[in-house]
Amino acid sequence: MSYLFSPPQQVELPVRGNSVSFPVHRIYCVGRNYAAHAVEMGHDPDREDPFFFQKNPDNLVVNGEAFPYPDKSADVHHEIELVVALKSGGRNIPVEDALDHVWGYGVALDMTRRDLQGVAKKMGRPWEVGKAFDHSAPCSALVAASDIGHPSAGAIWLKVNGEVRQEGDLNQLIWKVPEMIAYLSGLFTLEAGDLILSGTPAGVGPVNRGDVLEGHIDGVGELHTKVV
Ligand code: MN
Repeated sequence: MSYLFSPPQQVELPVRGNSVSFPVHRIYCVGRNYAAHAVEMGHDPDREDPFFFQKNPDNLVVNGEAFPYPDKSADVHHEIELVVALKSGGRNIPVEDALDHVWGYGVALDMTRRDLQGVAKKMGRPWEVGKAFDHSAPCSALVAASDIGHPSAGAIWLKVNGEVRQEGDLNQLIWKVPEMIAYLSGLFTLEAGDLILSGTPAGVGPVNRGDVLEGHIDGVGELHTKVV
């Protein structure tokens, strides 16, 4: 097989304690999945159907690398999130089988050009310019569920320059991991290599150049990046 030009490289994430990488297929993100964050964004905290948007695999920034402040925005926000990494997929996956498809977990930031997202919301336009920009998904190394199990509770927090800005617990997820996989698989054919960013707890806010971001999820890992 020959191509007109070199095809893009397979995007991969490191695996903690393993020299073998996780090949990334798609990135799905869940919106408004913690009640307190839904309230801070001006929405009802009641359980309504989940909604999703996507980032692109090449938006990932591997743990430790810098996050370049993007163009065309003056209000870039941090959103700390649990990442669910799939080893297999399918359509219409039952809730009770959903965790069988999970390879492991990680910690990621759903960086958001909030000002552009706000315009998109107001105009009824898609969210890509606010959500799926270059470097918009800093992510930790992944850890295997066979090592840590399937976390359903545990602290999730983000510090900016050493100060806690976001704090929550995985037990506050409105749509639990098996439910979000089941629901998503009704909308899309899921595949091995897909990542799901599971939504952010309350406390989102702006970042500035020079800020050091540290994310943590109990039992899952740590994420570090610097805004440059
Ligand atoms: Mn988010």
